Amino acid sequence: MKDRIIVALDVQTKEDFERLSSNLSGHATYVKVGMELYYTFGPNIIKMLKELGYKVFLDLKIHDIPNTAMKACKTITKLGADMINVHAAGGKEMMVAARLGMEEALKENPKLTRPIIIAVTQLTSSDQEMIEKELCIDRPIHEVVVHYAKMAKAAGLDGVVSSPLEVKLIKDQVAKDFICVTPGIRPTGSAGNDQKRVTTPKEAFDKGSDFIVMGRAITTAEVPAKAFDTIVNSL
Ligand code: C5P
Repeated sequence: MKDRIIVALDVQTKEDFERLSSNLSGHATYVKVGMELYYTFGPNIIKMLKELGYKVFLDLKIHDIPNTAMKACKTITKLGADMINVHAAGGKEMMVAARLGMEEALKENPKLTRPIIIAVTQLTSSDQEMIEKELCIDRPIHEVVVHYAKMAKAAGLDGVVSSPLEVKLIKDQVAKDFICVTPGIRPTGSAGNDQKRVTTPKEAFDKGSDFIVMGRAITTAEVPAKAFDTIVNSL
């Protein structure tokens, strides 16, 4: 189970990064580098984490015109990330281009590992009211998520980022082996922060999540490795 918990290293200082990456070493297998860390330290951060033995989910949520998305995915595949992602809202053509960019990098360097490529459906900080009022989407959020997941599958992607609450629908309506990576996870009794659609780690796996993403519940703990192990033991 521990290999299926991705720890989001959402920090901005060298001290915090070093404290977390050394403390979690030997406990967590998979870490997530998001915009906060990547924009602070640059691409070298991936190499550093790989050298420490981690698998890396590079969460840059690419969303641009197809040509730019293709070039961006080609570049980040060359960094050696194990998982990369794009926004499904960029459309099917953009997702196909992103995949082709990734495949082009692999063709140029067959020694590279093929990353898992997934699409963000709806951010777990979004809810029905927000998508209606701000994005002018008047369909139920779960229908939007399933529609985006179907589009990602048709574009040849491996899976999606979604709320655990939508995993069953996605597995039923898209494909059982379509990978579901789910953030918005909080152990019982901890603060939800800005996340609106949250579940506990156990609930998320019970609902069929392939990977769960956990940030603040682990990274802000006094001893992150202890918080991580407590979560693993609760499963
Ligand atoms: O601290 P917390 O556990 O809320 O962190 C969740 C992580 O997952 C953050 O890095 C956030 O950017 C990411 N994420 C998310 N919802 C998505 C996609 C990614 O919360 N739909």
